[in-house]
Amino acid sequence: MSRPAVAHIRLDAFRHNYQLARQTHGGRALAVIKANAYGHGAVQCAQAVSNDADGFAVACLEEALQLRQAGIKNSILLLEGFFEAVELPDIVVNDLWIVVHAIWQVEILLAAKLVKPLQVWLKLDSGMHRVGLSPAEYAQAFMQLSGHANVEKIVLMSHFANADNLSSAHTLQQIAVFQQAITGIEHSGGVTDTNHTEYSLANSAAILGWPQTKADWSRPGIMLYGANPLRSSDINLRPVMQLTSQIISIRNIKKGESIGYGSLFTAQRDSVVGVVACGYADGYPRSAGNGTPAAVDGKRTQLIGRVSMDMLFVDLTDITQAKMASPKIGSIVELWGDQVPANDVATAAGTIAYELFCNVKRVQFRYSDT
Ligand SMILES: *Cc1c(COP(=O)(O)O)cnc(C)c1O
Repeated sequence: MSRPAVAHIRLDAFRHNYQLARQTHGGRALAVIKANAYGHGAVQCAQAVSNDADGFAVACLEEALQLRQAGIKNSILLLEGFFEAVELPDIVVNDLWIVVHAIWQVEILLAAKLVKPLQVWLKLDSGMHRVGLSPAEYAQAFMQLSGHANVEKIVLMSHFANADNLSSAHTLQQIAVFQQAITGIEHSGGVTDTNHTEYSLANSAAILGWPQTKADWSRPGIMLYGANPLRSSDINLRPVMQLTSQIISIRNIKKGESIGYGSLFTAQRDSVVGVVACGYADGYPRSAGNGTPAAVDGKRTQLIGRVSMDMLFVDLTDITQAKMASPKIGSIVELWGDQVPANDVATAAGTIAYELFCNVKRVQFRYSDT
């Protein structure tokens, strides 16, 4: 028998979530599959929606080349564009679109000798202050790039810092800054034709919570994997990853005894403890303490003690006493998936579902598509 820790990836759920994201926002949707599709497998996820997807977004050239080498023909946007001028020939040959987020990139692009013009997504820093041109730089960069021999078409874009917080006014401020920047471009006149210019603002949280961010293109990421960044359940997203393992040992411990490194859990009653073959080396968060949800043979319970490198503990006492199930060696433990939302594990561990998914490693990946 091999080690039983498995990430089950349901590509049908990924496709369902993509369609839902696209319909909810309207217009076209770039499926964001950077960082190996948030840990789910970029090639498999891209292939699952290649007939439907308007395009994909990844972080860098290397991630895009992996998709091209796997035969993906859809449009692909590089979310940070190029890092060095030497990438430009490969970007052109592979028909990739680039975000331009800084003046140094504008300068390199204007000076390059390209065999074909590139589609540019010109990024405005509307208030997140991470990357993006400042409102003062934006119109001039647009004018310089627009109509230049190296530039095929320009899409205007920005990104939100707080769209997952529906009570924050920051998103509205960012929308206003973006609109002002567009007006600025219109007023600078010249070659611009803003009626035919396309826009893109919304990530998952904005698609779900801020309908006023609707534009030609959306950029859903986390919602494609079934985690709702707003933590609401009014939209039927399906979990894509189910992380499971099995019980490999069952211990009966007496009231007052403690378990695991640091003895972080001490039994308040005689207890039945299951040891599960999954740990932080698989990407399960070590910061998930007592009370983090899990499910054993379909019954909800919780973690106890400290997560170690290869193993963690679940409390089987209630399940056993209530005879809801009779956990045994080989019982399936869902760490997150259908019964245990990744968002709930993330909250218990002081992180977000994005990080849980990206960290998964060492486990077997099993793909299904029905
Ligand atoms: C990662 C990313 C997204 C997707 O964000 P989610 O919160 O996962 O939906 C969209 N746009 C940009 C620029 C990104 O970097």
